Amino acid sequence: MAWENDLGDQLFHENMNNVAPTGIVQYYNLVIKSAQGAEVTDVEGKQYIDLLGSASAMNVGHNHPHVVAAMKQQIDELVSYDAGYFTNPTSMKLAERLTKLAPGDQKYKVAFGTSGSDANDGIIKFARAATGRSYIISFEGGYHGTTFGAISAGACDVNMVRKIGPLVPNIVHVPFPDLYRHYPNETVHEISMRYLADFMRPFNTYLPADEVACVLIEPIQGDAGIIKPPDEYIQAIHTFCQANGILFAVDEINQGLGRSGKMWSIEHFGIEPDLIATGKSIAAGMPLSAVIGKADIMDALGTSAHVFTTAGNPVCAAASSAVLDIIADEKLPEKSVTDGEYAKEQFLKLQARFDFIGDVRMFGLNGGIEIVKDKISKTPDNNAAAQIIFRAFQKGLILVKLAGNVLRFQPPLVITRAQLDQVFTILEEVFNDFQQDKIKLPDELKNMVW
Ligand code: PMP
Repeated sequence: MAWENDLGDQLFHENMNNVAPTGIVQYYNLVIKSAQGAEVTDVEGKQYIDLLGSASAMNVGHNHPHVVAAMKQQIDELVSYDAGYFTNPTSMKLAERLTKLAPGDQKYKVAFGTSGSDANDGIIKFARAATGRSYIISFEGGYHGTTFGAISAGACDVNMVRKIGPLVPNIVHVPFPDLYRHYPNETVHEISMRYLADFMRPFNTYLPADEVACVLIEPIQGDAGIIKPPDEYIQAIHTFCQANGILFAVDEINQGLGRSGKMWSIEHFGIEPDLIATGKSIAAGMPLSAVIGKADIMDALGTSAHVFTTAGNPVCAAASSAVLDIIADEKLPEKSVTDGEYAKEQFLKLQARFDFIGDVRMFGLNGGIEIVKDKISKTPDNNAAAQIIFRAFQKGLILVKLAGNVLRFQPPLVITRAQLDQVFTILEEVFNDFQQDKIKLPDELKNMVW
């Protein structure tokens, strides 16, 4: 027994006997029984505040009564029918609502799927079909999912390529701006120009622009550590795309639906994308995703190439329509802005006290907190971050890390102010414990994927 959690320990080990180890397990014996709003309860009855809401698809919070009621009503009428042949009123209504949510006043259309990953595969297919070009530009550090197209567009390491390669061809990765680690005295403008030069290098050397179908970008990178590039960088890339007939596609699976303080994170940059991939929070955890794209692009693929039996499933669509109601009724993008400002203030106060908090990035209620050896060297401290999330877990916070050393702060957007205050009380205790060297990782955790 490592984490004073016998039942969770036992269930976890039984699970590991039957299930392939595909996920990254950061809380190895947290086995979740139920959840409500921003709170999660494990099989032993212990409660946690969920700081993982964006990843766990819970921008509107767990088991929101409106979502649950909409699903129950739909289940009584129709659970599923093959989306390859027929449709149903609930998914048709949702498709109409989603087309109207896209930024811009052009006509958009929707293609449903069941995961964020397949939505990104869809983007690659729609972009190639609409342009008749094969190349895709994506970004280092990006995460787009694990189907073949999505994994090929994301950040791949050598081991993964050795295991599952060859990947989808003609995907070129370019660096993503880092505003935290840069040359001394470099201005934001200079950083933008340096990364724009990186972006242009393939075009200036081996890659004809008229062979590129689309740029696929997370406007704010999520799994890389919540990183927002400078406006002028994204805008210059968009202008280059427009001038060269390259489609501009955004992956909003992590950052969309109010998370960053706007409905879509690309709206921070004043850009109307050609294609949007959305998923996760769109149906409060039910398996639904969508590509939302300009109508002429979406018409280019024809039938059969991007169809799934359960895409746009009516129960998932009912959940999703309820999610869209909640985002509007509870003004979640606006709440994300005000709560995000409050959370940022609290983190900045903690940063002033603790030398290991290197960077506080917060865009809406959507933060990446870099844990480093010290503020001067900015050296990532993965081990320190592991200790911090371990102690946070013991004290009732579900907090995971990104990119090895970045604390992921993305609670459900419905989190209450009292819950937020509780989060910061706990985090302060955890940071104090870490500074006083009071946290010891159990041996079995040292061997896990951190
Ligand atoms: N894109 C982004 C930006 C994501 O964060 C994720 C999930 N972490 C995905 C795509 C993949 O979504 P899914 O796990 O639903 O396939």
